[in-house]
Amino acid sequence: MSSRILPKFELCLPQNIQELLEDLKTFGDNAAILAGGTDLLVRMKSGSMSPDVVISLANIDGLDTIEYDETKGLSIGAMATVDQVTASELVKTKYPALFQSACVNGTAQTRNVATVVGNLLNASPAGDCACAILSLGGYVVLEGPNGQRRVDIDDFWTGYRQTRRKTDEFALEVVIPPPGKSVSAFDALTRTKKDLSKINAAATVVMDNGVCQKARLAMGAVAPTLIRLKKCEKLMEGRPVDDSLIETLLELAPTEIAPIDDVRSSAEYRKDVSGVLIARVIKKALGIATKKGS
Ligand SMILES: Cc1cc2nc3c(=O)[nH]c(=O)nc-3n(C[C@H](O)[C@H](O)[C@H](O)COP(=O)(O)OP(=O)(O)OC[C@H]3O[C@@H](n4cnc5c(N)ncnc54)[C@H](O)[C@@H]3O)c2cc1C
Repeated sequence: MSSRILPKFELCLPQNIQELLEDLKTFGDNAAILAGGTDLLVRMKSGSMSPDVVISLANIDGLDTIEYDETKGLSIGAMATVDQVTASELVKTKYPALFQSACVNGTAQTRNVATVVGNLLNASPAGDCACAILSLGGYVVLEGPNGQRRVDIDDFWTGYRQTRRKTDEFALEVVIPPPGKSVSAFDALTRTKKDLSKINAAATVVMDNGVCQKARLAMGAVAPTLIRLKKCEKLMEGRPVDDSLIETLLELAPTEIAPIDDVRSSAEYRKDVSGVLIARVIKKALGIATKKGS
């Protein structure tokens, strides 16, 4: 039942990762991890999540980092906020899709506490930073009683609101590879400026001499999880991004998605605009001017 009042739960405040792992071992099956709480607390109030135990990451030092290494790429720690991403010149320059998604991910108030890793773990099919990260590629580092393991972002979501995380594990960080020669962009269509996406998309493209070498195209709110448009990606590779390619993408994109009607939009609308949106983010990534409304 929807309420403004949180249901009763026990709060654990581990002071370090060792204590966190012990809490997860003891309570994992009945617990939820709390990062910024902008999804979790809303869902607990609405009754769609009712953990007996909430394990907060708030008192664990060193989880709020954003670091870049030429070989490893960008590491975003479990408690690094969406605001930290919007404040990072490095992210803005090297990972424009992530930067652009963070700028529209929620409101000034939520961005101040909401984490990027929380956006991935929430496993919403419409997550904005999650959409950008799926397009950029990378992996989530999960830590549990047997140490750390990496899960490729392509395999991370297994279904609606489901991930590969086991109940005795937490997500330590997400790592996005160095951009190399890639360019990227994100965009979303919303009912109002501050609303969740009706549909979102991101493109990461590598061009050489005017020919597309590699493309990763992600789309959200069109399936139970965020998805890549693999037929569109394949179509792009080895071709120049010209009017003929864009025309084909407009027709192909709707064939790759399986949207539903929900409170934010209809399946029909999402199918209709999917091609336009994917063409828009590709052009945005490549710096090709788009006509108003296209
Ligand atoms: C007003 C409002 C507007 C919003 N607008 C947007 C929007 O425009 N776009 C968008 O994508 N989202 C939006 N959201 C949703 C939310 O803000 C984001 O998904 C946010 O990034 C979640 O991060 P968090 O730190 O608050 O996660 P939390 O709420 O703390 O956690 C979310 C989920 O992830 C799990 N989790 C979090 N961290 C970890 C971890 N390290 N290891 C394992 N599990 C973990 C939690 O248990 C929970 O299930 C909005 C929410 C609100 C309230």
